[in-house]
Amino acid sequence: MSKYDLPENFSQLVEETYQNALKSGEVVFQDSTNEYLEEDDIPFVITHAPGLSKKPTREKAPEQDARPEGFNPFANPEPTMTVLSDYADGQFNILLNKYPIVHNHLLLTTKEFKSQNSPLSPPELIASLKILESLEKASTKNEKFFGFYNCGENSGASQPHKHIQFLKFPENFQPFPNGLVSNEDPFIATSLKEPLQSKNVPFAHFVLPLEKDASKLYDEDYLAMAFSSLLQRTLTILRDSEKPTAYNVVFTRKWILVAPRSNAYYKDVLGLNSAGFVGLILAKNEELLELIKKDGALNILKAVGFPNTSDQPTDEYHY
Ligand code: AMP
Repeated sequence: MSKYDLPENFSQLVEETYQNALKSGEVVFQDSTNEYLEEDDIPFVITHAPGLSKKPTREKAPEQDARPEGFNPFANPEPTMTVLSDYADGQFNILLNKYPIVHNHLLLTTKEFKSQNSPLSPPELIASLKILESLEKASTKNEKFFGFYNCGENSGASQPHKHIQFLKFPENFQPFPNGLVSNEDPFIATSLKEPLQSKNVPFAHFVLPLEKDASKLYDEDYLAMAFSSLLQRTLTILRDSEKPTAYNVVFTRKWILVAPRSNAYYKDVLGLNSAGFVGLILAKNEELLELIKKDGALNILKAVGFPNTSDQPTDEYHY
């Protein structure tokens, strides 16, 4: 038994807590439609959720207006919103997202306040990967899940208390890192293997394939090495551009991706978070949907991130 093991019935616990919170109105689900498209063979799903905002402005999302300024929903979470409290010897809570667009949207939050500007720690990575494993094992429909972390002011985060999020991928969707890692050996902590960067997308990103063997994966040193190797490349780009520290992290049970951010918004109106960097973009109204189609998702991601660096020699990373 490890302190990170989740209850056998974790997935059922998620479903029950979610259904009860939905019925009682604690969780406010937003209807949306998904549009699948490809740009230069990179798959995207653009989710149109018109209930989220009426105007294409930089105004706060409706959920942020509902509570007094400075309210921290993750400090003393409601029992009705809590799937598991005191997870991993009291380090974390696992909560429902109050305003989901996808059912069963989960949050792993630190029990004590930690800043959303801090890098992911090995315990946070282990806990996150355990959540993904548990959800995928319990799925009878072979659903695939991912976790993401929006770090820093320009990353798309709206809550300052540290939270990592978990979502199911849309049906029949293959995020581009799946292809990037498919023929690669997993990263091992003692190797000098460079992170991967696809030449097929215009934005900077760094990816490592992860150990398949659970005994090697759920290891603090291993995950610390993997994450810091991705962070090193990311911080070099941010430092060279004199931008504040902000990056997006997306991971599955098979790979982890980190992408540096230069801006929170595209053209001041379209907010993007980590999910965008693996092809999942949210349009809160019709105008934003049109903007994404007109300007192109890949161009948008490059504009809120940084240009791809896969053609640069690796000794230029010197952070
Ligand atoms: P981010 O905007 O990426 O920082 O993620 C914060 C998430 O927390 C958003 O998806 C919100 O929908 C969600 N959220 C906001 N308020 C609450 C709350 N009171 N309880 C649970 N989740 C919340």
